Amino acid sequence: MKQYDVIVVGVGSMGSATLYDLAKNGLKVMGLEQFELANDLSSHTGQSRLIRLAYFENPNYVPLLKKAYSGWRQIEEDAGVNLFYQTGIAYYGKSEGPLISGIQSSVSKYDLKMASIPLDQYSGLQIPADYQGLYEEVAGFITPKKAIWTYAQQALIRGAVLRQNERVITWQQETDYIIVQTDKGSYHTEKLIISAGPYIQSLLTRFIPKLTVTRQLLGWLNPSNWEDFLMNRFPCWVIEEEGVSGIYYGFPILPIEKFSGPIGLKIAYHAPGAIINPETVNDFDRIQEAQQLLSVSRRYFKDQKMTMLNMSSCMYTYSSDNHFIIDYLPQTDEKVIIATGFSGHGFKFVPVISEVLSNMARGFSPGVDITFLSMGRFGN
Ligand SMILES: Cc1cc2nc3c(=O)[nH]c(=O)nc-3n(C[C@H](O)[C@H](O)[C@H](O)COP(=O)(O)OP(=O)(O)OC[C@H]3O[C@@H](n4cnc5c(N)ncnc54)[C@H](O)[C@@H]3O)c2cc1C
Repeated sequence: MKQYDVIVVGVGSMGSATLYDLAKNGLKVMGLEQFELANDLSSHTGQSRLIRLAYFENPNYVPLLKKAYSGWRQIEEDAGVNLFYQTGIAYYGKSEGPLISGIQSSVSKYDLKMASIPLDQYSGLQIPADYQGLYEEVAGFITPKKAIWTYAQQALIRGAVLRQNERVITWQQETDYIIVQTDKGSYHTEKLIISAGPYIQSLLTRFIPKLTVTRQLLGWLNPSNWEDFLMNRFPCWVIEEEGVSGIYYGFPILPIEKFSGPIGLKIAYHAPGAIINPETVNDFDRIQEAQQLLSVSRRYFKDQKMTMLNMSSCMYTYSSDNHFIIDYLPQTDEKVIIATGFSGHGFKFVPVISEVLSNMARGFSPGVDITFLSMGRFGN
């Protein structure tokens, strides 16, 4: 009765790379994607994603990140493309705040490289005098849509089946196989991986971990002097403001000949946005939200005349503790695996999470310690 060894529901960030890993290992796999590949209605929109090693959120992520770093280099080599740009990241905050102290604990636990930098290192920024500046050379950014296209292409080359514009409505486990019902047909598979990003909740009828979907906004600024902020001259940056939860962050201006997407100096705020239904992700007040990001730019950039060129929105899927959820779904005899709750910081981990999911689907151990990401922590 089985048609596939594994079906992957949601061919986005995690799903595209998982499809690739499974196909590379010789499995008969199919990916089902409700929209087009690399769409603007999921969690992977917006041109660029930060990647950094000295993880302030929790040092437990560092071993995963080390694997992710080599995974990014591996897919670049396999496909002959550039996905990871090592621009470095400058971090600023109070030394006792969660950002700087969290970075320092990862640095000391894993003996990572981190440099102290003067607050006036980058002439375009104005950093409060009582902040500390750090610089991580091995950090930078990944291009998310190109990464998804690359993984999907490499999966197809290795025999995977990809069905776009086909939405999974439900699934049901029988004794020997799982039936996956879509809006176009039904399929039988031995194992199921659900990596449906902000839409996952409708597919988890039996066990629903607490998940919250939020709208996150990104802006592209128009500075008076573009030269100061060009890639290779200006790094990615992260600033923690005293008394404000989350972080502000941004990227250098990317050269138009190499990168598609909006032009300008990208800026964003990493903290929970408005709680939404995914269908309403693009319904926001552009003028009001532009003012919010412009006010941040006026605090931390010397140029007080910047205007907003463009804005876009994207979604986070928060778990209740902001850490990922990677596990077998209870009562499925380890046949159904979920990858969710990436809480706005999952993209950099794509190569390692996909390898973990592929290992789990093939009946192997995850290959890296992910016990801190299991559902057991919620007491289920
Ligand atoms: C504004 C913003 C900035 C971010 N910045 C960073 C960053 O700097 N660094 C970082 O590491 N991470 C960052 N992230 C987080 C990162 O992008 C996400 O954690 C990651 O994309 C989540 O991947 P995913 O596979 O869970 O979801 P997605 O990439 O959204 O993939 C899910 C896919 O499943 C499909 N799908 C859903 N339901 C169904 C269904 N029923 N049938 C078929 N297909 C379905 C969707 O259409 C989608 O394509 C950011 C996120 C946002 C929104």
